[in-house]
Amino acid sequence: VTEAEGQGGELRRFLLEAHPVRGHHVRLGSAWTGLRHGRDYPPAVAALLGETAVAAVLLAATLKFTGKLTLQLKGNGRVSLLVAQCTHDFQLRATVSFDGAAAADADFASLVGNGQLVVTIEHGQAGRYQGIVPMQAASIAGSLEDYFLQSEQLPTRLRLQCDVTSCNGLLLQRLPTPPGDAVEDNTRQIWDHLCATLDELPLPVLDASTAELLPALMREHDCRLYGAAPVVCRCSCSRERVTGLLRSIGAREAHEVLAEQGHVTIVCEFCGRSWRFDAADVERLFVSSLPEPGQTLN
Ligand SMILES: [Zn+2]
Repeated sequence: VTEAEGQGGELRRFLLEAHPVRGHHVRLGSAWTGLRHGRDYPPAVAALLGETAVAAVLLAATLKFTGKLTLQLKGNGRVSLLVAQCTHDFQLRATVSFDGAAAADADFASLVGNGQLVVTIEHGQAGRYQGIVPMQAASIAGSLEDYFLQSEQLPTRLRLQCDVTSCNGLLLQRLPTPPGDAVEDNTRQIWDHLCATLDELPLPVLDASTAELLPALMREHDCRLYGAAPVVCRCSCSRERVTGLLRSIGAREAHEVLAEQGHVTIVCEFCGRSWRFDAADVERLFVSSLPEPGQTLN
């Protein structure tokens, strides 16, 4: 257990009582410190990492699933790969590969380049879903709004905010109403007004507790606020998983590294923890996969 674990932020869900609109508000709190633990990200890269991590939590919050959701940002800009992963119970981890020197003062366009956002949902035994969104919008929030329109046809508005001290976000979603319903026109007006209000919410309000934020956002509308769910920075890497990875790399390669370095060490790209296997560990790992006498190696 590292210092960064076991702390975190919270996610709260709310519903408008009289209209088909729902929302999720997340504040990463000390989970944000956890995500950057032991790393030295330039501010622009940190902001992109934080926004994507918050987006992963908000996306996971909109789903009913048991498993993990992964947001992968792949591009040809200063950031080559950014991965943020959130489980159904909001255990969050994230990592980013970037061109160090050039990324320091880069704006969104030069960080991401001609990129795409890949959304992967692994839903236990029920299977795996993957959606790809070209990064045409000028922000993570805008790209996810595109994703929701494409994948679920639900009008969605996101606001993501991230700096050194705080990292948070809010998602509003308009739920379906029967077409031609008299409520429809009224709901559209209310929705448009809510989106405009969200866009203009001052940062300190976005950073405040959900109970403090809602009156500023919803004004005259009655709102139902649900209890807080904890959001923590926690990596799912384990000796067992790393062992599986080593097995898949294969005995020959593992022994080559062993001969060269005296041990095989795998560093988790998410949390930076290193998993070390000495010669005896490596022998034990592959003993069950050795061919029986008489069998040939293919
Ligand atoms: Zn890890």
